[in-house]
Amino acid sequence: MDFLRPATWQEALSARADRPGAAPVQGGTDVMVEINFDVRRPEALLDLTRVPELGRWEVVDGVYRIGANVTYARVITELGGALPGLAQAARTVGSPQIRNRGTVGGNLGAASPAGDSHPPLLAAGAVVEAESRDGGVRLIPAEEFYLGVKRSALRPDELIRAIRVRPAPGPQYFSKVGTRNAMVIAVCSFAIALDPAARRAGTGIGSAAPTPRRALEAEEFLAAELDWDAPLPPALARRFGELCARAADPIDDVRGTAAYRRHAVAVLARRTLGWAWDDHLGRRAA
Ligand SMILES: Cc1cc2nc3c(=O)[nH]c(=O)nc-3n(C[C@H](O)[C@H](O)[C@H](O)COP(=O)(O)OP(=O)(O)OC[C@H]3O[C@@H](n4cnc5c(N)ncnc54)[C@H](O)[C@@H]3O)c2cc1C
Repeated sequence: MDFLRPATWQEALSARADRPGAAPVQGGTDVMVEINFDVRRPEALLDLTRVPELGRWEVVDGVYRIGANVTYARVITELGGALPGLAQAARTVGSPQIRNRGTVGGNLGAASPAGDSHPPLLAAGAVVEAESRDGGVRLIPAEEFYLGVKRSALRPDELIRAIRVRPAPGPQYFSKVGTRNAMVIAVCSFAIALDPAARRAGTGIGSAAPTPRRALEAEEFLAAELDWDAPLPPALARRFGELCARAADPIDDVRGTAAYRRHAVAVLARRTLGWAWDDHLGRRAA
């Protein structure tokens, strides 16, 4: 198996265009497991860890642009203030070793419905920055990125350059159900992001449908019904949970039944909305 080690972004894009059978690798926490278990045997590995741009984040016109190779550990320590929903999700990923190697870019590359980055990226309206040598830069909204189980809108000659996301305009929460507290794939997960100025709440459901997805009807319900100056009515929170559960399309598998997942999505949605609402009212009172 060839091992390609571009040192620049342009070299990486050229290698991607010339060797479509080469698997990009960053932290390797998905790729190496798949090779070890013989799930895939790519003709080559395209190691992106030497490309400096991918390991950096910056703020451009007020938007965070996070290089694809920025690890979960760095999201937690460096971006937790600006992107609390993504940082909360990062804290639940694997173990310290996995968080030190694994990346949000790799999570997107794998496009697993259970990936923990996806719900907060959906809720926050993130955009995936993809690029190819011959096609240039393409900006893909997170909600258009996930096409099926482990299938994304990324073209064969494209690489993920960065993730673009606005700093949180309001409270954000992520919550996940697993069979234990660490080193688990989510049974299901949920993220919420409030935007008090726009009077909107974004949502993201994980591991409860063939792809991560937003709960659009639930978002519209909140936009129409919420009084942003008042305490959260319990009946409204319950209805929000029900609408989120209705947006899910889960399966029965070894980790949980479809019925349990649907129920758990409703509970996570109701709880995260409650936590976010407490923060929202607390900030107004402060
Ligand atoms: C023990 C263990 C526990 C785990 N726990 C969790 C968990 O709790 N939650 C969770 O979500 N995941 C978990 N994972 C899965 C994995 O850690 C994550 O999906 C991680 O985000 C992958 O990032 P990476 O940089 O290691 O990706 P890699 O393995 O390097 O790549 C992953 C995929 O993305 C592609 N890719 C990588 N970089 C790019 C790029 N720049 N452009 C295009 N494609 C690219 C690769 O070809 C591959 O298909 C776990 C894995 C292990 C081994």
